[in-house]
Amino acid sequence: MHIHFLGTGSAYPGSERDNTSICFSNDDYSVLVDVSGNPCRKLKQLEVDLGELDAVVFTHFHIDHIYGLPSLLWGMWLENRKKPLRILCDDRNEKKLQEWLSTMEADQWPIAFTIKVETFDGDRESELLAGGGMTFSCFKALHSVPTVGLEVRYAGRVVVYSSDTEINARIRRYDHIDMLIHEATSARNVAGNHSSLVEVAEKYDMDKIGKIVLVHLSDQEPYEEEVAKLGTSKVIIGEDLMTQRV
Ligand SMILES: [Zn+2]
Ligand SMILES: [Zn+2]
Repeated sequence: MHIHFLGTGSAYPGSERDNTSICFSNDDYSVLVDVSGNPCRKLKQLEVDLGELDAVVFTHFHIDHIYGLPSLLWGMWLENRKKPLRILCDDRNEKKLQEWLSTMEADQWPIAFTIKVETFDGDRESELLAGGGMTFSCFKALHSVPTVGLEVRYAGRVVVYSSDTEINARIRRYDHIDMLIHEATSARNVAGNHSSLVEVAEKYDMDKIGKIVLVHLSDQEPYEEEVAKLGTSKVIIGEDLMTQRV
């Protein structure tokens, strides 16, 4: 499985990064988690077929995680996509998503593919998607609005994506995580609704985690300095257009 990082930035406007958006894909299945920046351009650069993307999952409805959707759909339409696209969101955001699709008049484009909106209860753990040997499940994240983290299982491996969250006891409960993709909006400062790199390193058991990829990063934060202090090669500072293999 490839994990493509389309964007690795926080909500703060950054000069180096687009907002955080991640695509999990292999030859048979691909899922985009949150949609930022110019998603079509990024997916092309990462060689993910726009016509084959199976689903979009929104972890929550903050602008930095959703605003790329119109551009994604428009690009797919222009490329003559045929395959239905599943869009998953928390049921508390369904009305907003439907209104947004209607505002962009997606139903009036001479659109060749079906958009299937599906909802989940983000307060409950459940399996959301399965395909290509991957399964995607959600768990509740600790953020200012309803938000889910995701667990992706593939070939006996476990990847966990925190989404926007404070340090989450749910993540601490895993016996083993092969790759933890965790937000670190700051390097050191502790602020509600988000996490810092220092907290991530201190509050999770590093012995249980194979690798940590930091995302949702802000400009001018001393990430390199803090990673160097940890003295481990397990922690990777995310960069746009980076691909990890699991
Ligand atoms: Zn965010
Ligand atoms: Zn957020």
